[in-house]
Amino acid sequence: MRRWPLVALAAVLVCALVAGAVVLVRVAAPSGSVRPVAASGQPSAPPDGPPSPGADGAGDEYFPKLGNGGYDVRHYALRVRYDPSTDVLTGRATIDAAATQSMSQFNLDFSGLKITALRAGGADATWRLDGGRELVVTPAAPLRAGQEFTIEAEYEGKPDGDGFHHTTDGALVAGEPASGADWYPTNEHPTDKATYDFEITVPDGLTAIANGVSRGVDAADPGWRTWRWAATTPMASYLSTIAIGKFRIFEGTYDGRPVYSAVDERLPAGGVADQAMQRTADVTGFLATRFGPYPFEALGGIVTSERLSFALETQTRPIYAPAFFNRTLSDATSIVAHEIAHQWFGDSVSLNRWRDIWLNEGFATYAQWLWEEHDGGRSAQAAFDDTYGAPATAEIWTPPPGDPGEKNLFADSVYVRGGLTVHALRMTIGDDAFFRLLPEWTSAHKSGTGTTADFIALAEKLSGKELDAFFQAWLFSSAKPPYPGR
Ligand SMILES: [Zn+2]
Repeated sequence: MRRWPLVALAAVLVCALVAGAVVLVRVAAPSGSVRPVAASGQPSAPPDGPPSPGADGAGDEYFPKLGNGGYDVRHYALRVRYDPSTDVLTGRATIDAAATQSMSQFNLDFSGLKITALRAGGADATWRLDGGRELVVTPAAPLRAGQEFTIEAEYEGKPDGDGFHHTTDGALVAGEPASGADWYPTNEHPTDKATYDFEITVPDGLTAIANGVSRGVDAADPGWRTWRWAATTPMASYLSTIAIGKFRIFEGTYDGRPVYSAVDERLPAGGVADQAMQRTADVTGFLATRFGPYPFEALGGIVTSERLSFALETQTRPIYAPAFFNRTLSDATSIVAHEIAHQWFGDSVSLNRWRDIWLNEGFATYAQWLWEEHDGGRSAQAAFDDTYGAPATAEIWTPPPGDPGEKNLFADSVYVRGGLTVHALRMTIGDDAFFRLLPEWTSAHKSGTGTTADFIALAEKLSGKELDAFFQAWLFSSAKPPYPGR
């Protein structure tokens, strides 16, 4: 994610929030008890034994109610119809999952819409909504540990979640760390990724875009068309999106993969947004030389003309606010580099727990510096030195990015001190180890998750250096870290 406005070219990087900007971070109520957390990030539970309810959260200390325990989703098939004239969304979600414990009841994250029918394990289930975002499902019979089962939910209503943005002629979904639950029942935590099929039916004249590759467009009822998309590589649900509206489309290929980008047709034709979207494949190709092979089946981007205060790395197809394209092409392309970098750092290698957010934002910020240098601008070293020169009292240092707290998930320090940490590591271990570390990391955790401890361990292994003191100073100490090597 990147928030607008940016003062990205100044000596000190400052990212200020627009006054009144939409705050997307939902701060969940603290949990009343501490649950043991297994290596997967899922709360541990006996694998079998008497059936018991699945946990109502994935065990994330920042957002205890995000995600759920007791099962693992393999695939979502989402069939939705949305009518912008009435704002009514009608949906059918078919969710293939496997129970990870013997389970009498389980939760899905879901908000703002009304369930009209629900089946689980092949039979009608009962359900209730608990606390606004927890859909509590009781199957007709308990699910056995290891059992594969399907959840079929039908629902409708007017979406009202923070991640569902109503636009002039359609809608757009984008929100971190949660937004999937605003339009389908989901297990909303990056520790439970799944593949997706989308069928989105909208009135004739509108385009409906989602993640992954196009599976074609069909006529539906008179006056309606169905747009099909498939995300064939596992995806966290906050990275799923739909964008419905009128767009100029730019198609191409990158390394055998389809490139599909869309710019709201109200933005000037041939303008900076169009030009920046057409550089997406170039940016991807450059970043692949640093981070390793591009991890997904497709790429692109979506530029809205609506009032959105951020860009988000929705998988294969980031969403961009129009404000990012009001400046030069070079500034705009820097934001593209940020969101494309997240395809490796955040989307393919996802967070196991949200406190490690610097693993997403620090690397995406650093990618902007690498791109800037590649694009003929300032070197990454100059970017580091310019930024490091900020006084110890500057906001970029606080809070330390290694555990910023859920209210500071998108603090400047997570981005700027996070990016500085990446370059300081490069200066400490040398270019050879550093540029082996990045592709090794993205390969070792591809389509999975990673933690700060995992990253430190790999950096130590590849460099042969003991780095605990380095990371303590850069990620966790409240003081401004010493200049590398001094
Ligand atoms: Zn970001």
